[in-house]
Amino acid sequence: MRYHGGRSALQLDEIRCDEPSPNQIRVAVHACGVCRTDLHLIDDELENPQLPIVPGHEIVGTVEAMGSEVRDLEIGQRIGVPWLGWTCGECDPCRRGRENLCPQARFTGLQIDGGYAEFALADSRYCFALPDAYDDIEVAPLLCAGLIGHRALRMAEDAHRIGLYGFGAAAHIVTQLALFQGHEIYAFTRPGDREKQAFASSLGSSWVGGSDENPPEPLDAAIIFAPVGALVPTALGALARGGIVVCAGIHMSEIPSFPYQRLWGERSIRSVANLTRADAKEFLEIAARVPIRTKTVVYGLEDANRALEDLRQGAFQGAAVLRVATGGAP
Ligand SMILES: [Zn+2]
Ligand SMILES: [Zn+2]
Repeated sequence: MRYHGGRSALQLDEIRCDEPSPNQIRVAVHACGVCRTDLHLIDDELENPQLPIVPGHEIVGTVEAMGSEVRDLEIGQRIGVPWLGWTCGECDPCRRGRENLCPQARFTGLQIDGGYAEFALADSRYCFALPDAYDDIEVAPLLCAGLIGHRALRMAEDAHRIGLYGFGAAAHIVTQLALFQGHEIYAFTRPGDREKQAFASSLGSSWVGGSDENPPEPLDAAIIFAPVGALVPTALGALARGGIVVCAGIHMSEIPSFPYQRLWGERSIRSVANLTRADAKEFLEIAARVPIRTKTVVYGLEDANRALEDLRQGAFQGAAVLRVATGGAP
């Protein structure tokens, strides 16, 4: 299912998947998560997409073929392919363990064809083994929603009371992780979205409400998953002194101006960008230990447009995952 640009629907295309180059593997895709970033792609809100492009960066599949230089993987092994598809390894951020900030980085489903397909090519050095405790569908949302949630939670530092703005795939995962680590969760949804609020409660949130409401006590940190810039001053207003607002999405509408008083008191605003391979390793280990359970709604590959539209409408709780039935030739 490919995006050809111009904010058009994804098209079902028959294309050949190449032979893997020396460091690549060819993956027979079993499942692929649907991420909000995929919506930003088809809304032309992301920089440098390589069109036409197959979206999808929460790929679960098995190694079907591999290049001559691939080490540590074998044919038939189950692996995950994440958003971070390639980095230069030589720039300053790469050398300092911040490969998520590499200016040359290439991303799955943006510049590298992704997992809305029967087969995908991936650089084996950026793929990772997946915990056996999860089936293909359950594990898919961990590969981006989970990883970004985990990184965002780390940016919240030692916060005890944490607000989550937008209660979708990432928030439902990060809630479980945060509670396991001893934080309290305050869940903010679109005003009046009782279903999402009930979902957030069922996962153990201390408080749930609309984004237009104030929490019962000031928060130590707020993580914004919704792509709504106006939530930045709102979240700042909900913070105690010294609190942090973490913007976890790749795209956000413009942030309106606000009085300096909201930032005063050593409050701060920061963003979270991409992931590192070290994040993935660390998070997947913790996820199986918690254990984090994902709530998923499953679509067939050819229903990818419907899955994206349902995500846009907030029509389901948790995460959408495409189930891919392979059987054809690459
Ligand atoms: Zn680099
Ligand atoms: Zn994503």
